[in-house]
Amino acid sequence: MSSYDIVIIGGAMIGSSIAYWTSRDPDFTGRIAVIERDPSYEFASTTHTNSCIRQQFGTRINIQISQFGVEFIKDFKHYMGADAPEIRLHSFGYLYLADTEKFADVLRDNQRLQADMGAGTRIMSRNELAAAYPFYNLDDVICGSHNTLNEGYFDGGTIFDWFRKKARAQGVDYIKGEVTAISRTGESVTSVTLADGTEISAGKIVNASGPRANVTAQMAGLHVPVEARRRFTFIFDAAHRLDRDLPLTIDPSGVHMRTDGRYYMAGCPPGDDPNVDFDDFTMDHQIWEDKVWPVLATRVPAFEQIKLINTWVGHYAYNTLDQNAIVGAHPEVGNFYLANGFSGHGLQQSPAVGRGLAELLVHGAYRTLDLAPLGYDRIASNTPLLERAVI
Ligand SMILES: Cc1cc2nc3c(=O)[nH]c(=O)nc-3n(C[C@H](O)[C@H](O)[C@H](O)COP(=O)(O)OP(=O)(O)OC[C@H]3O[C@@H](n4cnc5c(N)ncnc54)[C@H](O)[C@@H]3O)c2cc1C
Repeated sequence: MSSYDIVIIGGAMIGSSIAYWTSRDPDFTGRIAVIERDPSYEFASTTHTNSCIRQQFGTRINIQISQFGVEFIKDFKHYMGADAPEIRLHSFGYLYLADTEKFADVLRDNQRLQADMGAGTRIMSRNELAAAYPFYNLDDVICGSHNTLNEGYFDGGTIFDWFRKKARAQGVDYIKGEVTAISRTGESVTSVTLADGTEISAGKIVNASGPRANVTAQMAGLHVPVEARRRFTFIFDAAHRLDRDLPLTIDPSGVHMRTDGRYYMAGCPPGDDPNVDFDDFTMDHQIWEDKVWPVLATRVPAFEQIKLINTWVGHYAYNTLDQNAIVGAHPEVGNFYLANGFSGHGLQQSPAVGRGLAELLVHGAYRTLDLAPLGYDRIASNTPLLERAVI
């Protein structure tokens, strides 16, 4: 039986970030294995992402995590070395639109918190929005919350490649295989078994298995409230192109849209948003006709004439308690670590969460950013970390 100090289950964005950060810590002298059932990552959330980052969160911890995300993107070469590329941040900003006083108040509260923490978010009146972005129909809009500083698209795919490349260079072993069982004795886990029968003993095990997080947790006799939920993405071209960037606009209907290179991107959840099988990537073609296109054409009349170029379905690892990440050691099984339930913001959170978990694994405590607010305790006590700016 082979033996590793740390076994990470799942080698996509989160698992590879944890492997990268742990293996670069000079105080870590052990061995790390990343076990990945599908090294093509064809069905991972990571390869279906929209790859955006925002400062517009409603909790201090999520804002701090994004602030480090931006720092990491901007200083990518510092972290990865001189041969790494620059990662550009296309900062068109998110724009949350409110059509009720209740949601306008949520945006105003969030803006105060974000501004207090140094983010560039502004509440814009309907007139200010019309002046900045004349292409919107704003008849029903009370105000918008917008930030063009450090908020928009980044090349998450390249960051993912470099997490893996550097982790390997720093000695991490990537093993192709599916973990099908975890051995547990009382308050510790001791080994994993792969589908082909291989057994690997482990000092610590990290659950980074995306939408399958609960299947993995159950192998250790535990539970995380994470489900696979479909999210639809549509790429379209417009006969009448806009004369400036379309911010990542979150329409009150739940449809979002943005500039995407020379095209535009839109997305939404299914109407009923059920928990689905891990291999269910069925597109609801009707939703484009019935919901998305009408919203686009109403909000931006120039989108009356558009042509669909591409579509895809990806899975959120959806935390049913509060749609926030669950990070840290499990309180009942101290050497079983969680990095789960990222819902729609795991790509941007991967640098800070990878760094934080590495600190926990190597030093037994967070050293930079305290990720305790994302810990499992809130799940156990059924106390949601309320995040009211969800997408
Ligand atoms: C449509 C869409 C848009 C998104 N947009 C954004 C965005 O704009 N910004 C943002 O920050 N985030 C976004 N996200 C979320 C983000 O993509 C995810 O949170 C992130 O990719 C999660 O990475 P992960 O490594 O946790 O999970 P995954 O990428 O799903 O990886 C989990 C890995 O674990 C492996 N695995 C599972 N079980 C086992 C097992 N038993 N044995 C071995 N391997 C196993 C899987 O094969 C998989 O490769 C979006 C997601 C979707 C679907």
